[in-house]
Amino acid sequence: MGSEEKNFPPHVLIFPLPIQGHVNSMLRLAELLCLAKLDITFVVSDFSHNRLIKHTNVASRFARYPGFQFQTISDGLPDDHPRAGEKVMDILPSTKNVTGPLFKRMMIENNCFASSTRRPTTCIIADGVLSFAGDFAEENGVPLIYFRTVSACAFWACFSMPELIESGDIPIKGNGMDLLVKGVAGMETFLRRRDLPGFCRVNDMSEPKLQIIKTETRQTTRAQAAILNTFEDLEGPILSQIRKHIPRLFTIGPSHSHLNSRLETQNIKTSISSGSFWEEDRSCVDWLDSQPPRSVLYVSFGSITVVTRAQLLEFWHGLVNSGHRFLWVMRPDSIMGKDGENRVPHELEEGTKERGYMVGWAPQEEVLNHSAIGGFFTHCGWNSTLESIVAGVPMICWPYFADQMINSRFVSEIWKIGLDMKDSCDREIIVKMVRELMEVKKDEFMERADEMAKLARKAVSEGGSSYSNLDALVEYIRSLII
Ligand code: UDP
Repeated sequence: MGSEEKNFPPHVLIFPLPIQGHVNSMLRLAELLCLAKLDITFVVSDFSHNRLIKHTNVASRFARYPGFQFQTISDGLPDDHPRAGEKVMDILPSTKNVTGPLFKRMMIENNCFASSTRRPTTCIIADGVLSFAGDFAEENGVPLIYFRTVSACAFWACFSMPELIESGDIPIKGNGMDLLVKGVAGMETFLRRRDLPGFCRVNDMSEPKLQIIKTETRQTTRAQAAILNTFEDLEGPILSQIRKHIPRLFTIGPSHSHLNSRLETQNIKTSISSGSFWEEDRSCVDWLDSQPPRSVLYVSFGSITVVTRAQLLEFWHGLVNSGHRFLWVMRPDSIMGKDGENRVPHELEEGTKERGYMVGWAPQEEVLNHSAIGGFFTHCGWNSTLESIVAGVPMICWPYFADQMINSRFVSEIWKIGLDMKDSCDREIIVKMVRELMEVKKDEFMERADEMAKLARKAVSEGGSSYSNLDALVEYIRSLII
């Protein structure tokens, strides 16, 4: 090592699974580490990188940090692959089989991205579902930290798969969905089979998605440490369970709020750090400006959910019949249909104008923090859930798949900041739930959501648990090069 190199900061390589929610939260982690003056190489798929460059300010946002660089790699899927709906799961085998070997070659050929101004990678922070990054780290003696972008409760349920199999809770054969689950320690009194992560809804154990999630989750323990985008006051009891297996566990979330808080502390004035893969339609903010306080239900099912035309109609009738105002995000690729049919039906657009507004993609963090928003009809993706919690907005949950199934149970039963509409899509139920959230129990929900928002903000403020844990993480990363 040259004498100059001794003064270089640690060099962290961050590698998310290249889909919206994962890239979003790991980009925020990258920025948090940049603020701590670490060098960062952020490895992302060409596809995601193109989307980010096209639709966000990432280029100018990260230009502030000379130690930050992007490296791009193939995700192994053709450009025209939909990367939405159930098909998004294709990205797990494709990254394993195509991206994995490419990554290995890339690291070796580039001497772990060393240069005249930076050390070779001193630590890899990989998405917990990318086991090939763990293989590389182990084979080459590079310290490894896994980052799980899901909630602690979802992670713990997936981690408990061997126990779930032993207790006979999975595979779920389509019946007994309301039976309480015995195999997840700490959740025996409230978790039903239908609340288990969607991967468990299989008929036999050989289903590839079940096997992949089971293996990838369990292998988190091979890392020297793990990071979760959550906070102690939200998921403390579950975190204690996880710590029995992964003692060095840093909870640093909610990452978006944490980033805002750190930028503020360092007096860096900036707009919200968006990591959107779609063009944000800001006209909805103007529309919200002219709506009464807490009167609008924000409706969005994230970046992956795909609905059938029949479901779309149930949502639309439910929203319109509820009598409440709504802002509805309908991604262009979110409606299932034959070619040419996957667009918003004209009559829905027309019929929405009186009390509703539709966009293809919204600046969600800003929308949730708008004073006109009174509720969030969400699929309960973990980023959306955290963004809603921080904004103090109660939720109606319509989980679509994966971790969303268990997140929605926690929102309704444990945190009591919303209602769970899982496994139904019916206009009457929607009307009832919208009225319950926005009228009947509005004050009750608002009060609970407000309390939770305060706890979230406390966690990421100086002296809070996530704030201290991030400092501890940075110290740990620094200790790895001594
Ligand atoms: N999002 C957004 N605009 C939208 C819809 C979603 O910016 O119109 C963002 C949202 O703020 C969140 C992410 O997309 O950060 C979605 O991630 P999440 O984990 O909630 O769900 P996923 O898309 O992975 O299912």
